[in-house]
Amino acid sequence: MLDICLLGTGGMMPLPYRWLTSMMARCCGSSLLIDCGEGTQIALKEKGWSPKPIDIICFTHYHADHISGLPGLLLTMGNAERTEPLIMVGPKGLERVVGALRTIAPELPFPIQYIELTEKREQLKLGPYEITAFKVNHNIVCYGYTLHIPRTGKFNLEQALSCGIPKPFWNRLQKGEIVEAEGKTYTPDMVLGAPRRGIKVTYCTDTRPTAAIEEEAAGADLFICEGMYGEKGKEAKAREYRHMTFYEAAKLARGADVKELWLTHYSPSLTYPEEYMNDVRSIFPRAIAAKDGRTAELQFEEE
Ligand SMILES: [Zn+2]
Ligand SMILES: [Zn+2]
Repeated sequence: MLDICLLGTGGMMPLPYRWLTSMMARCCGSSLLIDCGEGTQIALKEKGWSPKPIDIICFTHYHADHISGLPGLLLTMGNAERTEPLIMVGPKGLERVVGALRTIAPELPFPIQYIELTEKREQLKLGPYEITAFKVNHNIVCYGYTLHIPRTGKFNLEQALSCGIPKPFWNRLQKGEIVEAEGKTYTPDMVLGAPRRGIKVTYCTDTRPTAAIEEEAAGADLFICEGMYGEKGKEAKAREYRHMTFYEAAKLARGADVKELWLTHYSPSLTYPEEYMNDVRSIFPRAIAAKDGRTAELQFEEE
C-alpha cells in the first residue's frame, strides 16, 4: 500500500556504497521524494525505481547534501518525457533556490509548482498523501515530514439499510463519492463506520531532538531519523552542529512509541553504524541502522 525506500543514508558527502540521505515513497502510482542530494538519482537507479512518476519533492532544508542532486534529477525526468506538473515543497526561499539550480536545467517539459512553508507546522493534501511539515531545530530553517495514508471506515450494511440508501449507490459512496439523486444527497458517512487506522511514516533530518518531533512521530509505523554520531563522547559535537546521536534518536523513538526506527544521515567518519546498535537497542529495541536501499512495504492493519 505504501512502499518506502531509504535511497541513501549518508550525511554531508556521498561515499562509495553510501549515497546521501533521501527517501522515496510510492503509493497508488504516485511517488514522493524527500530530499535530493548529489547522487540521489544514481541511488534511485540502483534501486530500480523510476524517477518519472515522482509527483512531489519535499525538501527538509537547503544544505547542499539535501538538494544538490536536483538539477540532474529534473533533467532525467525531462528526458523520460514527463509532462505532468511536479510539486515541490520546502522552507521559504524554495522558488529562489530551485530557480538558481535550474540555471543548468532550464528547459523542462513539465511545469513546477512551489509550496513554500512559512509556519511552524503545515498540513497539505497532495495526491494520496496527507503531509504534515513541522519545523525542527538545525542551524538553518529545517522541516521534518510526516506522510499519512488515510483509511476510510468499513462498509456498514446495517447502517446503509437503516438509512434507506439505494443499493446501486453503495459502491460509489464506499469510494468516497457524494451521490445526488431524486432531490436527495447521499454522503459516504451514511454507509461507512469511523475512519480506520491509516499508515504513518515520519522522516526527520537534520536536527537536534525536539519535543515536536516526538509528538509528530507518535505511533508511526516507521520513523526515519538522523543519527549523525554513534561513537560515545560525541554529544557536544552533536549539539554544536545541531545534529543528534544514535542514542538521542532512540530516545525520541521510545517517547513516540513508533513501530520501527531507521537511523540515517551518518557522519562520513562513521564506517560501521551497526557497531553501536546494541546500546541503541537497550534504549529502543526496534531500532535499525539502515543501509542504502532499505525498503518497507507498509500495509493497512488486518481487521
Ligand atoms: Zn545534512
Ligand atoms: Zn544540514
